[in-house]
Amino acid sequence: MSTLLKGGGSFSLNEGISLQDWLDNDESSNNSIDETKMSVQKKMTLRSEKIEYTVRKHRTAKRLKLVISCDGNCTVTLPWRMGFVSADDFIRKNAQWVLEKMKAMKKIGKNSLFARHDRVEYLKLKEHARAMVARRLEKYAEFYGFEYKGVAIRNQKTRWGSCSSKGNLNFNYKILLLPQRHADYIIVHELCHLKEFNHGKRFWNLVGQTIPEYEKIVKQLKVL
Ligand SMILES: [Zn+2]
Repeated sequence: MSTLLKGGGSFSLNEGISLQDWLDNDESSNNSIDETKMSVQKKMTLRSEKIEYTVRKHRTAKRLKLVISCDGNCTVTLPWRMGFVSADDFIRKNAQWVLEKMKAMKKIGKNSLFARHDRVEYLKLKEHARAMVARRLEKYAEFYGFEYKGVAIRNQKTRWGSCSSKGNLNFNYKILLLPQRHADYIIVHELCHLKEFNHGKRFWNLVGQTIPEYEKIVKQLKVL
């Protein structure tokens, strides 16, 4: 996921966190260094904020391109013949956009599924996850007419959720960072185990009553 500012002047910020973005992001981080590129790290003070950025020259670049990546890093790519100073000028000219987007992307990056969360972040995310799960569970439990005992939000390494034979539902706190429809699927999945404690046809029929596209979601969650 990244946000792009081109010399021509059209901006876009992808605010949402979608599965496709994660997958795309993984692929694009495999860039290897080659000799058609030249890059320097630079610093500047922009409206009294210190920023760091990377300026790259690329032999095939046709025009100036500015990208703020999902961790908030700023990279300007220049056509080979352009002077490095044109990157500084471009950033200064678009100072507000650059500062806003760097901040926004840093925030999104911190909340991403693959970020490492320290204890404080974990507790905060856990609290938000608990509220979100409670809200959605109430809705789906009412639809199905199922009753559950307790709900726990945990830091589980390998599972999104589980359902105990006593009727307790457990969810991974990272469910909060999934697209809502995927989170809903996980909630419905565990909820339906209250009735069908297996993955048989009747179980999936139950799930499909509220998440008819569950097969697609199951596939997407598998590649995460
Ligand atoms: Zn299951």
